[in-house]
Amino acid sequence: MSSTTRPSVRGLHHVTAIAGDPQENLDFYTRVLGLRLVKKSINQDAPNVYHLFFADGEGTPGTDITFFPWPKQPKAKPGVGQIVEVPLAISAGSLDWWQTRFEELGVAQHAVEERFGERTLPFDDPHGLRLSLVEISQDRAFVPWQRSPVPQEHQILGLHSIRMWQTELDATDLLLTQVMGFEYVEEESVWHRFAAAGHEDGGGSGSYVDIRIVPSGIEGNGGVGGVHHAAWRVRDEAEELAVREAIARVGLQPTPVIDRFWFQSVYFREPGGVLFELATDGPGFGRDEDMDQLGQILVLPPWLEGRREEIEARLPHLGPPVQRR
Ligand code: ZN
Repeated sequence: MSSTTRPSVRGLHHVTAIAGDPQENLDFYTRVLGLRLVKKSINQDAPNVYHLFFADGEGTPGTDITFFPWPKQPKAKPGVGQIVEVPLAISAGSLDWWQTRFEELGVAQHAVEERFGERTLPFDDPHGLRLSLVEISQDRAFVPWQRSPVPQEHQILGLHSIRMWQTELDATDLLLTQVMGFEYVEEESVWHRFAAAGHEDGGGSGSYVDIRIVPSGIEGNGGVGGVHHAAWRVRDEAEELAVREAIARVGLQPTPVIDRFWFQSVYFREPGGVLFELATDGPGFGRDEDMDQLGQILVLPPWLEGRREEIEARLPHLGPPVQRR
């Protein structure tokens, strides 16, 4: 039996979180973490809020962390039903370099941990989002960003996993393994690891969900410093519709396919309460901008272009990124 006969996602596509001040958000992800701003757009459901996309040199699916900088939102509270951390992959041997960099730049970092055999450095972004850097030894699809302040060999290679808290495992386990094509990998202390491994390019860094079971845990809430949703890669719309149908069959009420212009999206809430998305690999961020010019100007989807003047007037000022200390 080929494992591709069952619908399956291909790993993380992007993670979207809520930030505070947009300029601080831009400065941190580009000048401290060294990612590329690959798209400067707006929240299509709230056009007075930016949507900033940070990724590798070409916006490769799976390398992208995006933000709605939305200082008026309440502060996020980590808890059950939330993604509580976004681990990012770096090459083996880079962690010491990053520790020194974080010290120099005053980034809030925590003790290095060994998780599932991987050296991990947890840290916080300026608005309270918990991230971590995880040393990996495998190759991944990644394009270096030539104008990054981070030397190529230490650059962030993409999303490694998502970590979430839930009160129980069974329902999410069933969704992941029976509907979305994940495999259960292993358990380590209170954490359970799953990997999207249903395709030849699946499994490994970028495909993981780690779930901590907190039976009497208090529900968290989203907001500034919290993750809004995690998106899973599907190759194209046909694959997206197949996974969508499998999700609908178990009663999870996925949305219809929504055109996000750079990809096609379907949203649904997994049984533990976390918002998931399916997102196609294409057409990608080069659809409306030269690859050389990504992120330089405010890009609107065509259906909002007619309102550009009004939309720009309501957005806060956002200048070029600066290095802060
Ligand atoms: Zn999304």
